[in-house]
Amino acid sequence: MSMLNVNDLHVSYGGIRALRGVTLEVMQGEIVTIIGANGAGKSTLLNAISGFLRPGQGEMHFKGEKIEMKPSRIVKAGICHVPEGRLIFANLTVEDNLKLGAYLRTDRKKIAQDLERVYGLFPRLRERMKQLSGTLSGGEQQMLAMGRALMTDGDLVLLDEPSLGLAPLLVKTVFDIILEFRDLGKTILLVEQNAYKALHIADRAYVLEQGKIVKSGAAKAIAEDPAVKEAYLGAKSTTAG
Ligand code: ATP
Repeated sequence: MSMLNVNDLHVSYGGIRALRGVTLEVMQGEIVTIIGANGAGKSTLLNAISGFLRPGQGEMHFKGEKIEMKPSRIVKAGICHVPEGRLIFANLTVEDNLKLGAYLRTDRKKIAQDLERVYGLFPRLRERMKQLSGTLSGGEQQMLAMGRALMTDGDLVLLDEPSLGLAPLLVKTVFDIILEFRDLGKTILLVEQNAYKALHIADRAYVLEQGKIVKSGAAKAIAEDPAVKEAYLGAKSTTAG
């Protein structure tokens, strides 16, 4: 089943055309990654899907229904965005931040179960549940942002650079957690500069360059593409001369 369809999406900031006709599809249960350099338009794409930005042109469908351009409606429909930079509430405790993730929900029993599940996945957050979130380390804040995403109970999770600025061990944890999200039945759209790791866990991938999709396919095939290897995986060109 198709979870998300983005069709010919255009977004501009004044004169800057950040997205220039992006078309992509995410199927239920998939991990799809968008790789691209700094400024390629990755965050813009996620922000448009979750309603934070209004596209100049294009259509998006979530589970077959046209996406309405209001973030709260989009969250309620089941799209959950973990933005770059985490955006946690520094003056609230860890537990309050997690509970905020569930603010549009009314299923109290399930909310309590989900909180338990988040603490199961992130024991560090359980240890620190009463601590102010602003005092957490960068890695802990990323876990908190991901935990809060689980609390929304959305089906589609949009992850914007979850490994950015984290130590290698934490990067591994973050990618392990993404796989756990999948095991919990979530569909994932992952934006990453760490193309190597992203392609390793993804089913399919799109390459975004200057606001356009220039390549797409099975993550494995994209990872083996010589041009991708050279541009995003740090491989040297094998072309003679
Ligand atoms: P990064 O990894 O650096 O976040 P990105 O691939 O997510 O890069 P975007 O942040 O989506 O890229 O930016 C795409 C383009 O739009 C860039 O040229 C950027 O400078 C521009 N841009 C992004 N946000 C704004 C804004 N609020 N106002 C003006 N230009 C913007």
